[in-house]
Amino acid sequence: MPCKLCQIKPVIRIPNSPRKVCKKCFLEYFEKKVRRTIRVNKLIGKKDVIAVGLSGGKDSLSCLDLLCKIIPDRKRLFAIAIDEGIHGYRAITLKDAKKFCKENNVKLKIFSYKKEFNHTLDEIINILKVNPCMVCGVFRRYLLNKKARELGATKLATGHNLDDECQSIMMNQFKGNIGLSAKLGPKTGIVAHQKFIERIKPLYFMTEKEVRAYAFLKGFQVNFTECPNSKDTFRNYVYVILNSLEERNPGTKHSIVQSFLEILPLLKERYKEKAITSCKQCSEPSAKEICRACEFVNVLKKSA
Ligand code: SF4
Ligand SMILES: [Zn+2]
Ligand SMILES: [Zn+2]
Repeated sequence: MPCKLCQIKPVIRIPNSPRKVCKKCFLEYFEKKVRRTIRVNKLIGKKDVIAVGLSGGKDSLSCLDLLCKIIPDRKRLFAIAIDEGIHGYRAITLKDAKKFCKENNVKLKIFSYKKEFNHTLDEIINILKVNPCMVCGVFRRYLLNKKARELGATKLATGHNLDDECQSIMMNQFKGNIGLSAKLGPKTGIVAHQKFIERIKPLYFMTEKEVRAYAFLKGFQVNFTECPNSKDTFRNYVYVILNSLEERNPGTKHSIVQSFLEILPLLKERYKEKAITSCKQCSEPSAKEICRACEFVNVLKKSA
């Protein structure tokens, strides 16, 4: 059956709907849904300056692409990329990020673990023998927040999609870390701190499949290389389980996220008491005397 609106050959089915649409209608549907997410959740104000965390993958490129349309003023939009130093991986995705920013006239700033923490992630794993994602996530969040703020951003946008959120919700459930879920949602964080840049997720209600289709139809040169450290992670395990549940019961991921959003205000209330102070070592926001990034830096100094 042709696309109902345009009467031409459809290219994709809208998830959880029998509707099949053409390329133009899908791109319009996608943009409309992202704009709605931003509007309903008040993600971006008129005076906000947005830093986009850009990896060069399909999610962050799609997020930046839409924000370029929504915020045409390039003084209010720029990108930050983090080079963790992962052999055979990050250099490839950074190439795509640079190309996109050049073509779309977006300022891109790149910061590396090597320069900021004296070691690449590959070196850190060799020294500390820890779960790579644990230290990588702490350092990335730290740098994105710090650099976005120093560069004048008032919000930090990331390319997290509905599948990512669903995985985080279920991982926290399975591990009994429900307190961590209080930080999730289209806008992250529980307690405000002047040095915390609020994180926003414009692609919050878009599935991974939809984002993949958007990136493909827009012709982004996305390299689908995966991080070599991602294979045996708990997240990857949950990813497989959720996909199999979704296949048997279409709509499962949406249901998980929708149910979660109903209890999110209660979770934020329940876990808000933990005050955020400043790290004694680097002055960045921290829940403890020394922030987690500085804890890792200190262990690295002793071990190297
Ligand atoms: S998969 Fe883990 S190690 Fe690789 S970039 Fe993501 S957080 Fe870092
Ligand atoms: Zn159409
Ligand atoms: Zn610190």
